[in-house]
Amino acid sequence: MQKVIASIDREALRYNFRVIKSHVPGSKIIAVVKANAYGHGLLEVAKTLSDADAYAVARIEEALELRSGGIVKPIILLEGLFNPEDVQVVSASSLETAVGSWEQLEWIEKANLQSPVKVWMALNTGMHRLGLNEDEADEFYSRLMKSSNVVKPIGLISHLSCADDLSSDYTKKQIDVFRRFASAHECHTALANSAGILSWPESHTDYVRPGIILYGVSPYDGKTGEDLGLRPVMTLKSNLIAVRKVRKGDKVGYGATWTAPRDTRLGIVAMGYGDGYPRQAPNGTPVLINGRIAGTAGHVCMDMMAIDLGPDSADKVGDEVILWGKGLPVEKIAELVDTIPYELVLRLTDRVVKEYV
Ligand SMILES: *Cc1c(COP(=O)(O)O)cnc(C)c1O
Repeated sequence: MQKVIASIDREALRYNFRVIKSHVPGSKIIAVVKANAYGHGLLEVAKTLSDADAYAVARIEEALELRSGGIVKPIILLEGLFNPEDVQVVSASSLETAVGSWEQLEWIEKANLQSPVKVWMALNTGMHRLGLNEDEADEFYSRLMKSSNVVKPIGLISHLSCADDLSSDYTKKQIDVFRRFASAHECHTALANSAGILSWPESHTDYVRPGIILYGVSPYDGKTGEDLGLRPVMTLKSNLIAVRKVRKGDKVGYGATWTAPRDTRLGIVAMGYGDGYPRQAPNGTPVLINGRIAGTAGHVCMDMMAIDLGPDSADKVGDEVILWGKGLPVEKIAELVDTIPYELVLRLTDRVVKEYV
């Protein structure tokens, strides 16, 4: 039985963590493992990153999965509470939560808790998504400090919206707003995401929150993780399930969008958009087979795709095909299908088996 596999390299994950540490020797590291650890497997990734000081997720369900999987370190809910009942869950499971709205504040103030909760006040420094505007932040901070349901000191958190754009001064402004508030209030601080860690030393505070670079993927357009000294963690693989001859002029696949430019051999790969491979991949999108690059031929189907092996190829049924990962950066595929690599690694479907090596 051939399997479609996303092979997850634990050593690469630990290696990337050490690279991050070397960029921010003075900061603690909150490993961002939301969205199933960017598609790499929530619990396995958290366990592998046992040197992390804390973990961050977006949803309470993700946090509870970590707790029930035996993770005892701090877990931070980046999106905060979705309803008043969440306060009880946060308290009971010793989670920490961002608090970024007056509603969330009230839910915390009014809760009847066994033990107070650890919170990170979210400051809006320019993303305009979650968090308090600067002009209401003082009052919000005082209310948090007054609540007996809140552990003191509190944390301060904000998110950079353009840190991957090195030519923009937007990040500088966000850092200024953040530092202004932090220096006037007692709190521990967390600002930098991946691009902040790599490019904006002024954004390094008590804690940093790397996501994508943990997985060896670049946060920048036009650069790969390897360019940044990182190792790809996920390698997506499948196999040839058929090899066939086509003649010059033969048209391949749905819509007959690829025409053989010469007599050649086609490989049929068990990988399609039903596995999460992007259907928009244009003709010629690279795959790696037996140490060389071949290009896709025709539309990606639900369960398979065709690749042009070349007229003299010796590849045979069962040979491994790498869709991205070691030797073929996912950033390259993302660029061709006009998305960011974040989306590709985390949209694989349940049909893809994860293998931890
Ligand atoms: C997703 C997320 C991160 C990590 O971002 P990367 O670009 O993957 O490093 C950090 N902080 C917050 C609040 C996030 O939502």
